[in-house]
Amino acid sequence: LDLKDLKIIKILGRGAGGIVKLAYHQNSGTYFALKVITLDIQENARKQILLELKTLYKTHCKWVVSFYDAFYTDGSIHIALEYMQRGSLADIIKRTQTLPEPILSRITYQVLEGLVYLHRQLHTIHRDIKPSNILLNQSGEAKIADFGTSGELQHTLSKAVTWVGTVTYMSPERISGRSYAFDSDIWSLGLTILECALGRFPYGNPLIENNSYNSSSNIDKSNSNSNNNSLPIDQNNNNNNNNQEGIGFWVLLDCIVKEPVPFPPSDKFSPEFCSFISECLVKEPEDRPSAHSLLCHPFIQKYQATVDNMAVEEYLSNIMDKKNKE
Ligand code: ATP
Ligand code: MG
Repeated sequence: LDLKDLKIIKILGRGAGGIVKLAYHQNSGTYFALKVITLDIQENARKQILLELKTLYKTHCKWVVSFYDAFYTDGSIHIALEYMQRGSLADIIKRTQTLPEPILSRITYQVLEGLVYLHRQLHTIHRDIKPSNILLNQSGEAKIADFGTSGELQHTLSKAVTWVGTVTYMSPERISGRSYAFDSDIWSLGLTILECALGRFPYGNPLIENNSYNSSSNIDKSNSNSNNNSLPIDQNNNNNNNNQEGIGFWVLLDCIVKEPVPFPPSDKFSPEFCSFISECLVKEPEDRPSAHSLLCHPFIQKYQATVDNMAVEEYLSNIMDKKNKE
């Protein structure tokens, strides 16, 4: 791909590392999501990143967002990805607040299939499962985005970018600097799905009301920001208190490690949903089920016969149209 053959249509979103634009490739008549990451780096590092990104070519799975090409132009790495018209789960819940269980079940089923592929075929931990990395298209397909195959890019970004963010989907073992494995993605999935059901990040207000924590963090702050943990921390504001729920980032890390795990209110959600979430959100990684075994969980099985991808798309298109009219 060459930037001059691409017509930029609009901005789809922004992340900590860069901007994602909708691009139209005139010659092939194809739309791409073009992720543009501005990096002032040496040619060697650049070549390494592009080389690593290109190994993503090899990943072909209907549950993972396809990678088409990567190139370096005008001081930026450009990554051409499959365009997902409905955007991310983060975009969707920003508009719809919450998603109903049958729709969430179908989305979760697809994400689990994606995780089975990453864990079993590629032997890769995703490391960054969160609402903005689960994307949906107009066929009701949900796919996993942004799995960090380029170690060099992750490394460069973690040095170059001021991470702004006040929530984290990282598992307790990862936050505490212990070794972590595939089970870490299961924690992140549980937190992500619970957020979509509750309509807010699961840690926050209720804990504040309990007044069950203060800033007595025992976490070594300098340490947890080192090595492969690119924590989403605003480097200029380490004591930040600007999370939507009003709890500081370090307090949150402390909560995840020490406080009881969040759970859905049992009067508002089905037993199957509550059981699914509590199986994912277990603090001990060894006690979490694998993605493969979760495919058989009653929360997934319950809607298998009745809710398909078209039902997801119908639901989303209806609710988005309604919101557009408001
Ligand atoms: P972070 O930078 O912390 O990982 P993020 O995942 O939100 O956060 P990006 O991956 O850059 O950052 O994505 C930003 C936004 O761009 C997403 O929330 C989504 O709205 C949009 N987006 C990303 N990839 C695509 C895609 N393939 N198709 C459609 N929209 C996309
Ligand atoms: Mg992303």
